[in-house]
Amino acid sequence: MTPFPRADYQSLTKYEPGRRPAEVDLSDNTNLWGPHPDALARIREATPDDVRCYPEVYADTLRTAVAERFGVAPECVTTGAGSDDILDSAFRAAAAPGAVVSFPAPTFVMAGELALMNGMRPRAVAWADAMRDPEQLLEEDPAIVYVCRPNNPTGALAPARWMERLLDRAGDTAGGGPLVVLDEAYADFAGETLIAWAVERPRLLVARTCSKAFGLAGLRCGFGVARPDVALEVEKSRGPYKVSRLTTETAAAAVRDVSGWTPKVVAECLANRARLRDELAKRGLRQLESHANFILFAAPSGSGADDMAALRDDGVQVRPFRAIPDLGDALRVTVGPWPLLERFLAALDRRLAALSAPLAGSGR
Ligand code: PMP
Repeated sequence: MTPFPRADYQSLTKYEPGRRPAEVDLSDNTNLWGPHPDALARIREATPDDVRCYPEVYADTLRTAVAERFGVAPECVTTGAGSDDILDSAFRAAAAPGAVVSFPAPTFVMAGELALMNGMRPRAVAWADAMRDPEQLLEEDPAIVYVCRPNNPTGALAPARWMERLLDRAGDTAGGGPLVVLDEAYADFAGETLIAWAVERPRLLVARTCSKAFGLAGLRCGFGVARPDVALEVEKSRGPYKVSRLTTETAAAAVRDVSGWTPKVVAECLANRARLRDELAKRGLRQLESHANFILFAAPSGSGADDMAALRDDGVQVRPFRAIPDLGDALRVTVGPWPLLERFLAALDRRLAALSAPLAGSGR
């Protein structure tokens, strides 16, 4: 009898981000200023055909909008149901079951999960080791090298010079080398993108999401840019009709950004990130320098899970991470409008006060 599920699925579990409804949710790095208004306007004009009819087979309206915005040819663009889908399709197109997918760690948890879901072998290389020597990512002949820039959850930005070294070394590898998948989910908040490189380099795919700076997480939309031969293989792997009609149109409106909403919101986010950084520093909490719309800081009690639970009881949801280099257990907080961050800081202060209070009933 054929076993069910297949052997390598038995250890897989469903994704569990550990969120619960909270008055203020600062746990998932979505855009807390709201959805892109140009996109919302298009949704408000929805017609029955937007729901009744199939979408464009390969979301050409969105491909064209992306191509125009980034100055590349439409054949260089692929789209999908979230950037998770871009990563998934790219992994499947480039790597056979059993192949190695390497990445500097810690990083976006789905990189390893998507490798496992596709029967591949995730290979984590410690971030500091990979930054010292990108060649470490090329050991064991990977079919994919995944790099998240800026990185989730640390906010670190791998230097462009380092990316160049990685791509040069990867290109020297026998057989043409791995596909380098560069995840730029948070690039808007770093103010720099390597999309221009993706159309110059033979095996580089840049993945972007509409879930963060554009505020469209509920629509599930992402896109990727690469040379036409690479983009075509990812399109084949992703399959037809993947992006709904309304999503194609609304994401295209956000990408075109006629109203100029995105840079305004990003500028406010960066100002608030600097303010939040100072507030955390004032409280003596160690933090990592962030190039994204979140900050990762050391859990005040040493247990991220305990601190997260206390903050949640106080109405504020953040995300805990374990054993982060240089921090230990840590909490990741999304940067949003200042009143939400004030609410977070008030809850954090109550937590810090509770931690420093003498033990109740200890008699000392
Ligand atoms: N990449 C990174 C680094 C992310 O943090 C996320 C979302 N948390 C994604 C990709 C997936 O985004 P999407 O909603 O487009 O699937």
